[in-house]
Amino acid sequence: MLPTSDAPRESAPSRRRRRWPIILLGLLGVIIAAAIILYPKWRRNTDNGGQKPVEPFRIAGNFYYVGANDVASFLITGPQGHILIDGGYPGTAPLIMASIAKLGFNIRDVKVLLNSEPHFDHGGGLAALQKASGAQLWASAASAQVLSSGGYDAGIAKPIGLITWLIRYPAPRVDHVVKDGDTITVGPTKVTAHLTPGHTAGCTSWTFPVHDGDRVLNVVSACSLVGLGNAHYPGQRSDFERTFRVLHGLPADIWVTSHARLFGRYRKLVASRTAKDPADAFIDPAGYRAYVDSGEARFRRGQEH
Ligand SMILES: [Zn+2]
Repeated sequence: MLPTSDAPRESAPSRRRRRWPIILLGLLGVIIAAAIILYPKWRRNTDNGGQKPVEPFRIAGNFYYVGANDVASFLITGPQGHILIDGGYPGTAPLIMASIAKLGFNIRDVKVLLNSEPHFDHGGGLAALQKASGAQLWASAASAQVLSSGGYDAGIAKPIGLITWLIRYPAPRVDHVVKDGDTITVGPTKVTAHLTPGHTAGCTSWTFPVHDGDRVLNVVSACSLVGLGNAHYPGQRSDFERTFRVLHGLPADIWVTSHARLFGRYRKLVASRTAKDPADAFIDPAGYRAYVDSGEARFRRGQEH
């Protein structure tokens, strides 16, 4: 005779209920394992933004391109020290330093760091560049706040505000706050700050003359004009209105902005190889007007909706 148990047989629903915690624990384990494996890869990609190294080159006179394939960085050289505009992603800083060295300059001679706007793709590499150069960083008051916290922008609404809190970059030290119209001087090099907020509250455009042979060319490094619908801040509309007026009023022989594709880095570089004077390929006042016009047209279209 087979032994029989006195215990009542467990019903199928109750067995399923007992299994649930085990299944949930298993799932949690898989999620944690996936996070441990994938996080470093995701972080590396975030830190670099998929940027690739490209040849650095002279735009005109003492003004050089030292950025990555899209995220831009510019070097203005001088006998008493250099000025570097924008730091790219955290992972772009080594590319920028390699480009500066390739042109025959020393990162230790960079005395001033400037920033167009403190988003991850333009402020992320500044701490590493500051560490390597010992340079002083100048930024607008609104940008200074964001840069100093590694990209956290308390002024923009959640959830984007929350994302900027979660995904930070190494925070650089902001040494000086610039006001509209301030001029930063390193030896004979003079760069003027123009507060052009809208894309971010601290967006700053920079202007400076470049001596190329016997001519003086006016350069505008214009901040982004993209209105981020998901990153509104109070007063953004009136900021943009003022910014378009300011940018329309700046004389520009050469213009650049923080994403290289927008000012035609590669197209102009190729044209410069066959130009009578290589700098001629970068003289583009019509392109500058079109850049500001199209930014303004996008803004006006957005306003109608
Ligand atoms: Zn941006």
